[in-house]
Amino acid sequence: MHVLVAEDDGSVAAALVSALTRAGHACTRVARGSDVLLRHRDAQVVLLDLGLEDMDGLDVLRQLREVSSLPVIVVTARGDERSTVRALSLGADDYLVKPVRLHELLARLLAVTRRYSPPDEPLRVRVGSVEIDIDAHRVHAADREVALTPNEFGILYALARRAGQAVSRRQILDEVWGDAYVASSRSFDVHLGQVRQKLPEVTITTIRGLGYRLEDAA
Ligand code: CA
Repeated sequence: MHVLVAEDDGSVAAALVSALTRAGHACTRVARGSDVLLRHRDAQVVLLDLGLEDMDGLDVLRQLREVSSLPVIVVTARGDERSTVRALSLGADDYLVKPVRLHELLARLLAVTRRYSPPDEPLRVRVGSVEIDIDAHRVHAADREVALTPNEFGILYALARRAGQAVSRRQILDEVWGDAYVASSRSFDVHLGQVRQKLPEVTITTIRGLGYRLEDAA
């Protein structure tokens, strides 16, 4: 499986990557928390150190959990109960104190990923008269085809596959731009405005302080 190793200590990271690679896993190693938030979508599990170059691992975990339920194993020198409880309550799936025993790490890795199945991505989404074909990247509304740019299409898909539910702005930014925190929010507003204009068949309601909800306008 693909493991994202977030560890700022070069020798610890090298030991982890080498053990994981020997066990048949592919690794991406990052030293910064912001890179975890940028690159988590390619990974099936994250090994998260708490003392990273740019931010505290617990903050990384909190921000990651706003957009993803990807399995996370905290691997840290902080062995105190308070840090463990905080990490688990923020959504860590497991917690290992350094120095880690490599066979135990590999076993825990398999255990947390076994429990996790990624959310289904439907191939076709229909809301009222609007139909979105994901593979073909086409949108039909009533009997016309609607031309959308890739970003507009991404926003529509992110909202339409959860029609009737509130979707946070960060969730959409993460899914469309691959980055929930850095992407320009002004450009997001422009794209969203275009989707609203091109598709009057759906209503996209802004939920203040949270995000958006898409519904059939009829
Ligand atoms: Ca560290």
